[in-house]
Order: sequence, then structure tokens, then C-alpha cells
Amino acid sequence: MSSDGWEVVIGMEVHAQPRTRSKMFCGCAIAPLNAPPNTYVCEVCLGLPGVLPVPNKAAVEAVLKTALALNCEIPQHTKFDRKNYMYPDLPKGYQISQYDLPMSVNGSIEVGERKVRIRRVHLEEDTGKLIHAGDKLHKAWESYVDLNRAGVPLMEIVSEPDIRSADEAREYAMELQALLRTVGASDADMEKGQMRAEPNISIRRAGSEELGVKTELKNINSFRALQRAIAFEVERQKQVLESGGAVAQETRGWSESEQRTFSQRSKELAEDYRYFPEPDIPPLELDREWIEKLRGALPELPSVRRARLAATMPPSVAFLIGGDRDLADLFEQAVAKGAPAAATGTWIVNEIAPSGKLPSPDNLAELLRMVGEGSITRDQGREVLMESVETGRTPAEIVAEHGYAQVSDESELRVLAEAVIDANPKAAADYRGGKKQAMQALMADLRKRAPQANPKLAMELLLKLLG
Ligand SMILES: [Zn+2]
Repeated sequence: MSSDGWEVVIGMEVHAQPRTRSKMFCGCAIAPLNAPPNTYVCEVCLGLPGVLPVPNKAAVEAVLKTALALNCEIPQHTKFDRKNYMYPDLPKGYQISQYDLPMSVNGSIEVGERKVRIRRVHLEEDTGKLIHAGDKLHKAWESYVDLNRAGVPLMEIVSEPDIRSADEAREYAMELQALLRTVGASDADMEKGQMRAEPNISIRRAGSEELGVKTELKNINSFRALQRAIAFEVERQKQVLESGGAVAQETRGWSESEQRTFSQRSKELAEDYRYFPEPDIPPLELDREWIEKLRGALPELPSVRRARLAATMPPSVAFLIGGDRDLADLFEQAVAKGAPAAATGTWIVNEIAPSGKLPSPDNLAELLRMVGEGSITRDQGREVLMESVETGRTPAEIVAEHGYAQVSDESELRVLAEAVIDANPKAAADYRGGKKQAMQALMADLRKRAPQANPKLAMELLLKLLG
């Protein structure tokens, strides 16, 4: 509850693209991002007359895994329905979705301290994409349609209005992304359009039980935009109500460039879509044995894994690693091979997660041992790690080939330190005269002459020679 007497009420619809090779009702492959327009289409997803849609089992499985991870009930029967509307990116004139018998209902997810109830998770198909081009000056407008995305499977995860702030909405979406990735249901990459959020927002006087009029924000495609768009919308609604106005129930968009929401259209009601059962697909009877098999095979969920990891590392590190199944597996396997937990966590967060490329647990453990023993520097370690990921070769092979191994031989380092002092008489005199920061110039020259010199031993020798 906010301090100004208003309570914020947010429900969320999240669309995520199930991880499948082909589209929802035909054999077309999922188009890569930069595919030329209309090259991943067939009679079915173009909506030509007389074709028959066949549901994609992998998409159904992805929804069931997600629903089970969200503690949903899976009804015995489910069916597809036609959602009828006319739009140029939907040549069929209807979208196949699910209306009154969704694939799952009544779940929940923990978001920090809050339990957010999940109303339903259902399966539907995506539409095509419109591309507008034109010459503003001569008012010559052209619109193109790309149907590569038409018929791509989408699951819709609908929450109850249990979220209470813009920050919490962002956390909820991040938690869902981690869950989708962990169970392998979706890559859920918002930048690639594989996950998008549609929050509905209303405010009410603190203590009131009645819900205020809500607005719905469409197609938010980053966590940052989600947080900002909701924060803006909450402030806008407060101003409208405090100045005696009424919030209009409508769909609004988010302008990234102007950082504000804007009215798009008044909200459609369900009856506007004339839903009716899809006559070309018989109702599905979900096999209980299959569902129990999926339930039994669910991996450890992010919230549980985070709690377990937090026992051995700082909470922020545990949050990041525990929310990503690949990173968490890598962490645990590298530690099992003898890598120290703290260093492994740090390297995964600082080097591996940002690069998006995973080394093998063996190679990571070997690399951390070499850095820990001081046989290579941290900087060299970073390069070796990246090269190991690219080539699959072991860190030891790469270090040997580059001659990276640090020089720790005292007589060799002493010659080097003497040469550095001879070449920098002013810095040496400054240091002896009490200017401690002159050591930096001496060390810099030393590193330039011999990048592989063990910096700790070299510094000790310089100090000894100057003392
Ligand atoms: Zn197709």
C-alpha cells in the first residue's frame, strides 16, 4: 500500500512462445528473426480454405510443464476455440485460442514475500506482423504484412490482480521467465519477442474492497519498460481521480521514446469476439499418466534452488545463478569438481553470464585452479576462459600454447625489477623520497616489459630493491 492513501492493483497477462521446432497447427518451422517475410508459411497458417489444423504436441507439453510448475490444476478435458475478429495480420479472420476450457487453472507463484495467484495458462496461436512504410510528405502510405509469425504457438499465463506495485510486477515477470527457462518450456527472451507482458492496472482508496476501473497496457517487451509503464500509469490514474475525473476503461500503449502511455482503443469485451468451439479440432482428453510423468520429471524450481544456493554465497549471486538452470548446473558441477564456491560464483556472475557462453564444468574448475594458484593472472584467465568456450580446448592446452604461465622464478624477476628501476630513475627516487604512488609507474613499466610476470612477487622484489 502506498503512503498517499491509494492502493495499486495489478493483474498480468504474459505471452510466452513455447520452445518448439514447428508452428502450432502446421508443419512450418519457426522462422528465425531475420528471415525474409512470408517464407515460413503454408496453406494452414495462411488460413486458406479447406485446410485442417493439427495441434502441436510439444506446445501442449510446454504448457503442461509450465502449469505444473505453477501449481495449477489440469482439467480432464480441454478444447480450442475461435476468437473472431478481422485484422490485416490475421487473414483467417479468427485466431485459434482457448476460451472456457483452458488447459490449466488455479495456480500460484511466490514473488518475494507475495503469493500471486494464477488464474489460467492456456495455448493459442500468434498472428502475423504489419510493417508500415510510406512517404509522409506526399501522403503515400503503404502497409505490408509478414505472416512468418502467424500460427506460432503462444502460451498465455493470466494472473489474478494480486500484484501491488510496478516493482513487484517486474519481479513477477522475471520470476516467470526464470521458471519458463528452468522447466524448458520457453526461451522467454523478451528482446526476441518470445515473451511479452500485458499488465492491467487500477487504483483504489486504501482499505476499499471494490476494484477501480482498469486500463490494460499492450505488448510490453522489456522488464524496464514494464516497470516504467506501470509507474507512469499509476501516477496518471491518481491525477485523473484526484482532479475529480474518471479513468476510462481502455487499452493503452507505451511509448519508449516519450516514456509515457497513450490511449489506443476502448477495451473489447469477450462478446465482441463471438467465441465458439474450433470445429476442426476435437476436444483434447489429457492423459493422466502423461501428466504425472511430466510432474515427476520437473527440475528443481528457481525459488527452491535460490534458497539452497543462498546458504553458500551472497543472496544477490544466489538470485542470479539460481534463476538460470544452465548457470546453476554449471556452478554445482564445477564445485563438485573441486572449484572453490565463492570464486566460481563470482566468475559465473561477472564473466560467464554476460558472455552468454558456457564452458564445461571441467574446464571452469581447471581454469579457477590455475588462477587460484597464481600460475596465470585474472586477465589471462578471462581470455583463456573465452578461448576455451569458443574452441572446446582445455585451459591447460591454451595456457601452454600462449606461453601464459606466470613467471614466478625469483632470479628472473630480480633481473627484471633491476632493469625497471634503472630505466625509471625519477620514479625510483620519488618512491625513495616518500611518494608511495610512484610504485604505480614502476609496476606499469614492469607489466609492459613482462606481462607474464607474477605481479605479487615482482612488487615484493621492487619494494626490497628500493628499500
Ligand atoms: Zn504453416
